[in-house]
Amino acid sequence: MGKPVENLADYKEIVDVIKGSGGDAFKRCFQCGLCDAVCPWNRVRNFSMRKIVRQATFGMTEIESEDIWRCTTCGRCPQRCPRDVKQIESGVALRRIATEYGVFPASVKPLRTVGASLIGEGNPLGEERKNRAKWTEGLSVQTFTEGMDLLYFPGCYLSYDPRLKKVAAATAHILNSAGVDFGILGPRENCCGESIRKTGDEELFKRLARENIKTFIDHGVRKVLVSSPHCYHTFKNEYPEFMVHFEVIHISQYLFELVNDGRLDIKNEYNKRVAYHDPCYLGRHNGIFDEPRAVLKKVPGLELNEMADSGQDSLCCGGGGGRIWMETPKNERFSNIRLEQAIGVGAEVLVTSCPYCITNFEDSRISLQDGQDLDDDPSGLIEIKDITEIIREVI
Ligand code: SF4
Ligand code: SF4
Repeated sequence: MGKPVENLADYKEIVDVIKGSGGDAFKRCFQCGLCDAVCPWNRVRNFSMRKIVRQATFGMTEIESEDIWRCTTCGRCPQRCPRDVKQIESGVALRRIATEYGVFPASVKPLRTVGASLIGEGNPLGEERKNRAKWTEGLSVQTFTEGMDLLYFPGCYLSYDPRLKKVAAATAHILNSAGVDFGILGPRENCCGESIRKTGDEELFKRLARENIKTFIDHGVRKVLVSSPHCYHTFKNEYPEFMVHFEVIHISQYLFELVNDGRLDIKNEYNKRVAYHDPCYLGRHNGIFDEPRAVLKKVPGLELNEMADSGQDSLCCGGGGGRIWMETPKNERFSNIRLEQAIGVGAEVLVTSCPYCITNFEDSRISLQDGQDLDDDPSGLIEIKDITEIIREVI
């Protein structure tokens, strides 16, 4: 049972927890409001990070409110904040308090099931651990053994989700075509833990991370190839907190390497107009903007068009910070805006390189088509693709 937050001692605790997690960063805020000006929420409804910061400074956070769960950790406002207020870290600290008190608004309740599935089966999707390698059926994919060049870590969505299993298969096909010596961990792979950490469940993150690290060490893993920018971020920037270091490479970077080294031969044309969406955790959080574009530009026939809000200013799909598991009303989805932007620049295909982005874009595509809101796209045929699916078609 959660404890109600109702007295001054509780509010003092909020201030202390925030201090413990992000130092006194909140106090530096001078209420300029730049964070609210760039936050994607303000394109779909009112939301104020500035107000959350203000309330937290005085320990007056409304811990029961939905607002502390809204931030997708997209990284836009920390990039702009003149006072380095560390909105993401401090926001996560508030979620930690809510988690401890068991205060979850209705839209956030799916997190309980997600947590149980992560503890029991190592994935957030309620799937069985023993089925983690099922996506490889009919494909040539080995189990990783010591001495192999590369561990391929597809992550949870690519292992289980029917749409994203196609991305895992495309990746395996590409790696085999390029003669890469790689293997997977299958049922020994756990969720990387990035998103659950952002929901404030630090204990579960540590448990998942420690298990993965032990498995990597036991198997002699040195280099890890990932499909998800969220796995990339946590292996590269968060697992070193456990005093370990593994070389990590995202598939978009690896494709760039394979094509440049002449290991992957692009033989076919792809005669379509394409818009590339920068996932927050690939671009803004980790600076990988150029490689995916460079790979797409190598494809003959492909016309790459830039959307508004791209690169450093990329519009979040809405799936970071654990939001991928929370309920977002249809008319408040950032991904709807992104689809309209892609269609607006004449794209026939919206391409990206993140399982959360693809999930959200596919959902928006279906709901916008159902509602026939795609005014500029009467055919309703815009496709959503991972970059590997395009490369798979042209090699
Ligand atoms: S941008 Fe930074 S200083 Fe300005 S209101 Fe937001 S948190 Fe405060
Ligand atoms: S990190 Fe992104 S979603 Fe979160 S408050 Fe800042 S701009 Fe909004």
